[in-house]
This record gives sequence, C-alpha cells and structure tokens, in this order.
Amino acid sequence: MTTQNPPATRTHGDDSYNIWLRHTVMCSSCRAGFPCVTAERLGRAWRQARR
Ligand SMILES: [Zn+2]
Repeated sequence: MTTQNPPATRTHGDDSYNIWLRHTVMCSSCRAGFPCVTAERLGRAWRQARR
C-alpha cells in the first residue's frame, strides 16, 4: 500500500504571484512601466496571501 503524497503544497501566495507575473508580461501598460490598476490590485492580493 503506497501512500500518495499530495503534490507540493501550493500556497495562495504562489498562485497570486503567478497571476500577477503573467499580467505584467501580458499587459502593455505594465510592460511600458505605466501605473496599472490591475497590477496594483494583483500585487496587493499577492502580498496579503503571502502572510
Ligand atoms: Zn497591467
């Protein structure tokens, strides 16, 4: 009987970070270095999830 280990526990912080990272890559405003409301919100969610 083999106990199956769950895949590496993913924290919400990792998810939020990936979402934010993908946005900064896709968003033209972020890539141009302009302030982006969406990136700001995603970044805030990431920081809150990291705690
Ligand atoms: Zn953006």
